[in-house]
Formats: sequence, C-alpha cells, structure tokens
Amino acid sequence: MLEHDIVIIGGGLAGCRAALEVMRRDPSLDLALVSKTHPIRSHSVAAQGGIAAALQNVDPQDSWEAHAFDTVKGSDYLADQDAVEILAREAPEVIIDLEHLGVLFSRLPDGRIAQRAFGGHSHPRTCYAADKTGQAILHELVSNLKRFGVKLYSEWYVLDLILAENQVQGVVMLEQASGRLEVLRAKAVMLATGGYGRIYNSTSNDFASTGDGMAMVARAGLPLQDMEFVQFHPTGLYPVGVLISEAVRGEGAY
Ligand SMILES: Cc1cc2nc3c(=O)[nH]c(=O)nc-3n(C[C@H](O)[C@H](O)[C@H](O)COP(=O)(O)OP(=O)(O)OC[C@H]3O[C@@H](n4cnc5c(N)ncnc54)[C@H](O)[C@@H]3O)c2cc1C
Repeated sequence: MLEHDIVIIGGGLAGCRAALEVMRRDPSLDLALVSKTHPIRSHSVAAQGGIAAALQNVDPQDSWEAHAFDTVKGSDYLADQDAVEILAREAPEVIIDLEHLGVLFSRLPDGRIAQRAFGGHSHPRTCYAADKTGQAILHELVSNLKRFGVKLYSEWYVLDLILAENQVQGVVMLEQASGRLEVLRAKAVMLATGGYGRIYNSTSNDFASTGDGMAMVARAGLPLQDMEFVQFHPTGLYPVGVLISEAVRGEGAY
C-alpha cells in the first residue's frame, strides 16, 4: 500500500495549481499527484486563446469591476458572484505570479505582457502565450511541482475512492503500463479530474474528458453541484470538434 499526506487526482491546470499552492503553504507535506495521462498531456494543454486579467497593459480604462461585470453578464447572471469577484480581483496578481514561475507570455513592444480582445469582454484583457497558453502554463506548473518534490504518478488510472467511517481514506488506482492495482492512502484527497464533454458526439474536449471524478463521487453517494454547466465553444469545426480559437471572435468573427 502506498501512503501520502495528500493526494490530488488530476494533472491538468486545476490539479497542478492546487498542488503548487499546497506546497507553497507547507513544503514539509508529502503530496502525490495522480494522473491518467501524463500531466502535460492533460486536456488543459488544448487551451489556446488565453487567460483574462484586468492588467490594464493595453487599455488603462479596464478594471477588475468591468471584468467581474462581463463575467456575470456572460453567465446570464447565473454565476456565483462572490466567486466572480475573487476571480476578477485576484487575476492580475495571479498572472504576475505565473510569469514569475516562468510562463512565457506574449509581449507588447515595450516588454509588458500583451493583452488581446476576446468574445464577451468589454476591454482587451486576455493574456496569452501565442496560441499555446494552456501548454505554456502547464509546462511551468509541472516543472515547479518537481522543484517542490511532489510525487507524480503519471499514467495511473484512479478507479474509485475508498470510504471508511464516512470519510474518504484514499483511492484505488491502476498502473496503465503494467495493469497493477494499488491502494493509495491519504489524509486528504482532492479531485481535479476535469469535465465530461466527451459524453457529447461533437465536442472540443479531449478523449480523456470522461467525468471520472464525478462518477466516483456519485458512486460514493456524495453530492455533485452545477452539473448542467458544460462549456461549448461557439466556434469550431463540425463534426470533429476542433476548436477555432476564441480569439477570432475577439477580432470580430461570429
Ligand atoms: C479546445 C479548448 C480550448 C480552451 N481554451 C481555453 C482558453 O483559451 N482559456 C481558458 O481559460 N480556458 C480554455 N478552455 C477551458 C480550459 O481548457 C478548461 O476549463 C481547463 O483546462 C480545465 O482544467 P482541469 O485541470 O479542470 O481539467 P483537465 O485539464 O481536463 O485535467 C484533468 C486531469 O485529470 C486527470 N484524470 C481524469 N480522470 C482521471 C482518473 N480516473 N484517474 C487519474 N487521473 C484522471 C486527467 O488525466 C487530467 O490530468 C478551453 C477548452 C477547450 C476544450
């Protein structure tokens, strides 16, 4: 049996970012990250267009309030507005932090981080790394996890949560190369297994977006929230589902 203090299931941007935050807070923790794909092959690598933050590098009229308003309006007023406020307020700081971690953002001629227009945004506030923003961020997060000594279980498939005394005590997982089954015990288990876009016939999501984490939670009898919110790109190649970058709408396409 394997044992760690914390296990995060999922090596995409959510899982890697959560792992980094845990290690920054307490580097003495023994943290494992399990991913059924190599982390850098997670679906997050497909994110092309960029990441919004009111840095005001291109438009000094932008503000976190405008970013928050655009986000709430874009959600048809269904978004959790407290969460939107945190997202919009903290986004500029997070972009600078990512840059300090080594993410190679595209630049303005004066060297500051470039920002472009995006559909639904009232100001040009999307920071990007050419057309490979997800890949650029994921690469740096994964290399920083190595710096902190996070144990990576790459190409291990988590099958189920282990529950005892009404608490999650660990997971059962399978090493894809060998077929070996293992129990991994942990004091805390975090799920960051991505979405379930692959249940649709035509989708821009990758083949690994099969909602495994949500299925495990449902099987464990635990509640799930906001299942109806599935992202669909308005621009894509039908029927294969290859994305036509959201940046095209920022430039006026519809
Ligand atoms: C084509 C495309 C372009 C996009 N562009 C943008 C963009 O420009 N800007 C933006 O902000 N957002 C964009 N998005 C959305 C963004 O990519 C996603 O919201 C984000 O990547 C989700 O990250 P995640 O870490 O939650 O999930 P994922 O990246 O899907 O990671 C899930 C992880 O969980 C692992 N996993 C799943 N099940 C198991 C299991 N059973 N056992 C072990 N591991 C498991 C996977 O291997 C993977 O490592 C885009 C989405 C698509 C489809």
